[in-house]
Amino acid sequence: MVGNVFTSVASNYDLMNDLMSAGLHRLWKDRLVSKLNPFPGMKHLDVAGGTGDVAFRILENIKNVKRRAMQDVLDDDLIEETRIYVCDINPNMLGVGKKRAEERGFGREKSLIWVEGDAEALRFEDNSMDGYTIAFGIRNVTHIEKVLAEAYRVLKRGGRFLCLELSHVDIPVYKDLYDVYSFSVIPAVGELVTGDRESYQYLVESVRRFPPQEQFAKMIAEAGFQKVEYENLVGGVVAIHSGLKF
Ligand code: SAM
Repeated sequence: MVGNVFTSVASNYDLMNDLMSAGLHRLWKDRLVSKLNPFPGMKHLDVAGGTGDVAFRILENIKNVKRRAMQDVLDDDLIEETRIYVCDINPNMLGVGKKRAEERGFGREKSLIWVEGDAEALRFEDNSMDGYTIAFGIRNVTHIEKVLAEAYRVLKRGGRFLCLELSHVDIPVYKDLYDVYSFSVIPAVGELVTGDRESYQYLVESVRRFPPQEQFAKMIAEAGFQKVEYENLVGGVVAIHSGLKF
């Protein structure tokens, strides 16, 4: 089901993201990456990475570190050792991502590696990653616990887990307005732009089924992560959860 949904939305994915969030998804992803604090030479895994939005930001951030004050201190080899793996279950989304990488001048970028794979059964070694991100991906998986266990397994000690996800608004009136927007406006816009109302209906319903902020934080802690916290953005429309593996 999820495979079909993302095959259907892949080509209009960026346009629909902008329309549905009024462009805010860009700022949310910037915030996610600023919390990650990327560094040259890091090994990072962006799961459900789709069209590469988060990975491009991480790479740009790392290249900017080089351009800023540390220019003389940083070794070029260290920059080249950076590896950002974009893992997604859907080859169509990865295909759109690779095309976008070329358009952005990252076509020959060795640091960016596109991997088809399932968040619930990652093909990466234990303790191999400095960072793990998943943006707008975890609510679509079958077993959230398996995804969290896999994130914990592949992270090194000291590695950071970050999850950006549509979440729950708990402010009266604002919540009602948001419900009308998500249940009526999003499927209608989806139909207008892509001719596929059902996929967008599914995406909205999946937000309702996703555990609220506190409950999700508890699940992250149960997977073994420490210092688990979350930040609500736009009153909880979106939340960024984080945790550390000690
Ligand atoms: N992270 C990207 C972003 O924020 O623009 C893409 C988010 S998109 C809403 C969700 C992505 O999750 C899709 O590309 C879909 O193929 C992927 N996905 C769904 N289930 C997955 C799974 N079990 N393992 C890996 N990727 C998955």
